[in-house]
Amino acid sequence: MASRIIPVDPFDLVVFGGTGDLARRKILPALFRRYCAGQMQDGTRIIGAARAEYDTEGYRAFVHDELVEFAGPAAQDAEQVAGFLDILDYVAIDADGEQGWSELSQMLSEERVRAFYFSVGPELFGGLAERLHRHGMAHGESRIVVEKPFGHDQATARRLNETLAEHFEEVQIYRIDHYLGKETVQNLMAIRFGNMLFEPLWNSQYVDHIQITVAETVGVAGRGDYYDNAGAMRDMVQNHLMQLLCLIAMEPPSKFDPDALRDEKLKVIRALDPAGQDDIVLGQYRADATRPGYHEDVGDPDSTTESFAALRLQISNWRWAGTPIYVRTGKRLRARKSEIAVVFKETPHSIFGPEAGRHRNILTIRLQPNEGIDLDMTIKEPGPGGMRLVDVPLDMTFAKALGPDAEDVPDAYERLIMDVIRGNQTLFMRDDEVEAAWAWIDPAIVECNKRGQPPLPYDAGSSGPEEALALMHRDGRRWREIKP
Ligand code: NAD
Repeated sequence: MASRIIPVDPFDLVVFGGTGDLARRKILPALFRRYCAGQMQDGTRIIGAARAEYDTEGYRAFVHDELVEFAGPAAQDAEQVAGFLDILDYVAIDADGEQGWSELSQMLSEERVRAFYFSVGPELFGGLAERLHRHGMAHGESRIVVEKPFGHDQATARRLNETLAEHFEEVQIYRIDHYLGKETVQNLMAIRFGNMLFEPLWNSQYVDHIQITVAETVGVAGRGDYYDNAGAMRDMVQNHLMQLLCLIAMEPPSKFDPDALRDEKLKVIRALDPAGQDDIVLGQYRADATRPGYHEDVGDPDSTTESFAALRLQISNWRWAGTPIYVRTGKRLRARKSEIAVVFKETPHSIFGPEAGRHRNILTIRLQPNEGIDLDMTIKEPGPGGMRLVDVPLDMTFAKALGPDAEDVPDAYERLIMDVIRGNQTLFMRDDEVEAAWAWIDPAIVECNKRGQPPLPYDAGSSGPEEALALMHRDGRRWREIKP
């Protein structure tokens, strides 16, 4: 099955922060892979813009080394690498001052799409938008891509929205959440709305509960300054987990179109009950024999920022009333694993007698590693000896199901950057959606603070604090294991 590549018209893409960590590890390798896939036409230009005083050749040499490190096997192809480096340019710019702006505006072509990727610290977002406008680069075919964090709370997110809106129309603003670019996350919509099978069962009558887990093994070292000011609630729950929740719980949009989809996501956020103190468990990882603890990682022995959060959520609408949704995320956990599990109710009665037990189906959407979908089905255990039942997964690992093409699943950034160029905002967050997510998270954080307790310590390599297990035990349910 050959995947279809639809080339995009020549464009100019400016990567502010083009020497930074995100650009090196994700954005430039993603662009390179799209180049290799043949999606960029002659005349396309990518312009790095950052503080470092590179000339174009110096920047190309820098990017060359980063591609070798981060772009995988494609970077072994010297011809492709040389071709890609040829479309790169660089401008030394001060996002906060005046240096480099007129050079940049002269480098851009008038008659084509221009995208400006804000891969710099969030304190620079507003200033970048203002300068782009002032220097005549905000016209109709211009787009800006804004990285996370989008605000620290509802008030700061609203201010940032207002600042951006002074210089760009909403249709020009692409607030990126790379989770939405993951192939499996989009598949979640295909599974729900492209099949008849699940949607009739996708409600509180048939679904017992839903679990969303985003577990990481890494700590926060290297990002300590940023993370300690954010914590798991702001860094992960407000954006990535909330977005996954919206896609799993929303009503079918009338069409796969940016506003139709985002309207439905927004309704989910607005239907969330406020979280009480008993609905949230926060944790912080301890040191183990070989790795420092959270306090050492952020260099503050008194920090009370959480590196783990588990929440019990309730959506108050006809579809979901009575079906809790449990979400958890954390650093330094047992395995790197992100998944959504839709746990259906048990069969109401066992015709095979009490010893056969009652069983349930679980639909698991695996985001990482090993993207794919499992459906746990109950079947007869093979062999003689009566009707014993056993649960087995129907495994749809994409690489197995779709052949070699699926092994080369595009990275989320590849998909999302090309969507920006094509002008498709479906997988980007709208202003009201971001503010609504903060409007829900802010009071939840206030509730946690009212407890006046630091986050609960948990062992590195564990599944988080014991109390997170209790959050589900209390309801007679269990978290799925976080195992490699
Ligand atoms: P970084 O510190 O590694 O890089 C920052 C870049 O901004 C550098 O290229 C630097 O030269 C440039 N810069 C800083 N001040 C500037 C100025 N005044 N004028 C011009 N350029 C300036 O940061 P990063 O990790 O690449 O993160 C960039 C953005 O992406 C941040 O908003 C971050 O929150 C977000 N983000 C990063 C990651 C990641 O994995 N690194 C993941 C998600 C989101």
